[in-house]
Amino acid sequence: ATFDFRQRRALVTGAGKGIGREIAAFLAGCGAQVVAVSRSADDLAALERDHGCMPVVADLADVQGARDAVRAAGPVDLLVNNAGISVLQPFLDVTPDAFDRTVAVNVRAALIVSQEVARGLIARGAPGAIVNVSSQASTVGLPEHAAYCASKGALDQLTRVMAIELGPHGIRVNAVNPTVTMTPMGRMAWGDPTRSAPMLARIPLGRFAEPLDVAHTVAYLLSDSAGMIHGATLPVDGGFLAT
Ligand code: NDP
Repeated sequence: ATFDFRQRRALVTGAGKGIGREIAAFLAGCGAQVVAVSRSADDLAALERDHGCMPVVADLADVQGARDAVRAAGPVDLLVNNAGISVLQPFLDVTPDAFDRTVAVNVRAALIVSQEVARGLIARGAPGAIVNVSSQASTVGLPEHAAYCASKGALDQLTRVMAIELGPHGIRVNAVNPTVTMTPMGRMAWGDPTRSAPMLARIPLGRFAEPLDVAHTVAYLLSDSAGMIHGATLPVDGGFLAT
């Protein structure tokens, strides 16, 4: 798949590893000027070296840090809210701290970064597109994922409200909802075959998602080819949610 993102500036959060890295690299390959926001400077230096992405080191759990990151990025046309964390805890052991950190990164950062980007687009009178990287965990409950599932359910709802309010400004907003993807986060949660095998058995296509499966979908939703797709939460799950 390829798309023409020349003359477009894309901001990708959580671009240092996993799915975000793949999205940043793919968009750069389609000609976008990519601003890569993440926590670890080393990861961003590699992304700059390999794909020419502009690095912005920030902790998006911090509200001011998130705002400053967008301001450092310059005028953004395309936004991918991909940064996310997962802290696995049995429900009875979920700590307020882990819950708050999860919501701060997975939902609040998407809100803050999107507000900043949308304000800029509206001020410039420019069209834009935003994709939030949600999860199948927004729709189904997964054991030990209470905070994560709650945060992704909230992200789907945030996506819908953003679509309603930003659509009239020419800013399209959608979410992608991948199944298990073997990134550093995916390996942490699903690396143990006794956990992953029952999940894999529920996926009709018989495999987990690859980061590139997600990157292709995100790129499509950002592109003008998806010009009438708005407020959608699109599974990238090999049919998991159809079963
Ligand atoms: P990884 O943990 O592999 O990578 C996440 C990236 O986000 C890292 O570069 C990390 O930086 C960065 N990040 C995390 N927290 C912050 C923060 N506070 N500020 C800035 N950057 C941050 O995750 P994945 O690639 O697997 O996940 C990407 C997205 O996809 C997430 O939203 C996740 O919920 C979602 N997803 C993942 C699935 C999976 O199975 N892997 C399935 C469905 C959805 P650093 O390492 O430096 O902290």
